[in-house]
Amino acid sequence: MIVEQIWTANAYRNFNYLIACGETGEALAVDPLDHEKCLATAKAKGWTITQILNTHEHGDHTGGNQKVVAATGAKVLAHANAKDRIPGMDRGLKAGDIIKIGKTAVLEAMDTPGHTMSHICLKAHADTPALFSGDTLFNAGAGNCHNGGHPNELYNTFATQLAKLPETTLIYPGHDYIANNLKFTLDREPDNAKAKALLPDMERQDPSKPLVTTLALEREINTFFRLTSPSVIRRLREAFPDLGESPDPKTVFLKLRELRNKW
Ligand SMILES: [Zn+2]
Ligand SMILES: [Zn+2]
Repeated sequence: MIVEQIWTANAYRNFNYLIACGETGEALAVDPLDHEKCLATAKAKGWTITQILNTHEHGDHTGGNQKVVAATGAKVLAHANAKDRIPGMDRGLKAGDIIKIGKTAVLEAMDTPGHTMSHICLKAHADTPALFSGDTLFNAGAGNCHNGGHPNELYNTFATQLAKLPETTLIYPGHDYIANNLKFTLDREPDNAKAKALLPDMERQDPSKPLVTTLALEREINTFFRLTSPSVIRRLREAFPDLGESPDPKTVFLKLRELRNKW
C-alpha cells in the first residue's frame, strides 16, 4: 500500500490523499477536493484512480468528486447515511466494510460520528497501521461539531474507537491544523514539554512535507487524549469552578471541546 499525502494549499488547509496498490497501480482518492492536483499526481505516478472515498459530506471534502469521476469513471464511496447529501454515491459504507484497492491495498471503514453523524475513518490493513481520520481527529486536535455533529458522539468515537488503535498507527487527517492545535494544547496544559518542543518546528513546517504523527505521539500532544492529565484538569477547573476535583474523562472532553469552540 502506497500513501501519497497531497497538500492543497487552499484557505481551508485541506489534505487530500491517494492510496495505491503498488502492484496494479489502482488508486483510491480520499476527499479529492483539489481534483487537479490529485489527477496530476496519479498521472505522474502512473496510477489510475478507480475509487473516491469521502470521509464525510462537507463540501471541502466532496467538492472535487465530479471532476475526478468525469476524468476517471471512479466509483464514489461514503457513509451509507450520507447518500442524500453526496451526489452520485455508488457505495454506502457501514462499520467493518472492507475496501480493496487493486491486489494489495486493503482498508476498513470505521463508523466515527461526532464531526458529522455520517463520518467514516479508514483503517489501513498494512504492516504499518494507518488511519485516514478526515475531520474527526486532527494532528494535536479534534474536529468541531458545528455543522451536523454532536460532542457526545465525538467523545464516544475517541474513547471507544480511536483510543483503541495500535500505538504505532500513522495519522492522516483531513486538514493541516497542527500549529494552531498545539497552541490550544499549551493553553490548556502549559507544562506540556512535548507540545512546547514541537510547536516551533510545526510553525515552520512546509505542509507539502508534513510531519506524520502516530497515535502514541497524539496521546502526548493532543489535549483531547489527555483527559486525565492533572494539569489539564487543574486549568479546566479555573474555567469551570463547578467541576469537581476529579471530573470523569467525558466531562473533561466536552469542556475542552466547548473551550476550543471559543478559543
Ligand atoms: Zn468537515
Ligand atoms: Zn474539512
